[in-house]
Amino acid sequence: MDRLTIQVGSYEVNCSILYESGLAWIVDPGQEGDRIAGLIEGKGLVPAAILLTHAHFDHISGIPALKKRFPDLPVYVHPADMPMFGHPMNQYPGEYASIGVPENLKDVADLPSVLPSVSVIETPGHTPGGVCYHFPQDALLLSGDTLFAGSIGRTDFPGGSMARMVESLRLLTALPDGTLVIPGHGPHTTIAAEKRSNPYLV
Ligand SMILES: [Zn+2]
Ligand SMILES: [Zn+2]
Repeated sequence: MDRLTIQVGSYEVNCSILYESGLAWIVDPGQEGDRIAGLIEGKGLVPAAILLTHAHFDHISGIPALKKRFPDLPVYVHPADMPMFGHPMNQYPGEYASIGVPENLKDVADLPSVLPSVSVIETPGHTPGGVCYHFPQDALLLSGDTLFAGSIGRTDFPGGSMARMVESLRLLTALPDGTLVIPGHGPHTTIAAEKRSNPYLV
């Protein structure tokens, strides 16, 4: 599995394009959907699906531009985050206007049937339906807004829970030390580095 990670939108979300055998899997297209589509087409790839770590506006706002170019593209998300689409609280006027409910929403539990190399880890806490995408063969974790380098995601938004966040972090620290972690925002890290120095984990 090859990977390209770019920062999109003024919230600088890490959007990753994972690709293999000519197919591209787009994780958290938070903004700049046309730029993401251009990168995929420039590599001669066919987009297979959009994968969301959670449905906050800064992670989903590139979806309409992608769906305009690729209308049938499925959007995988945890069902507990589906009510956030079109919710009046889940937008920021201007750059992050509401995108409504995307068509072809899929339950992320069904993702491994089309992408067998992924293990979906349910990590509620930042949002009720937060997930992390673990690729064991690539020693790669896309941790969304659950785990950051040196920090963790906020739990004080609607639907957030520190108690559930603690349980979710426990699942992540059980992953192999050498796992590369690409958070939803900010620099890359590893499970080992976070276990050593992240104040929320030590
Ligand atoms: Zn978030
Ligand atoms: Zn975010």
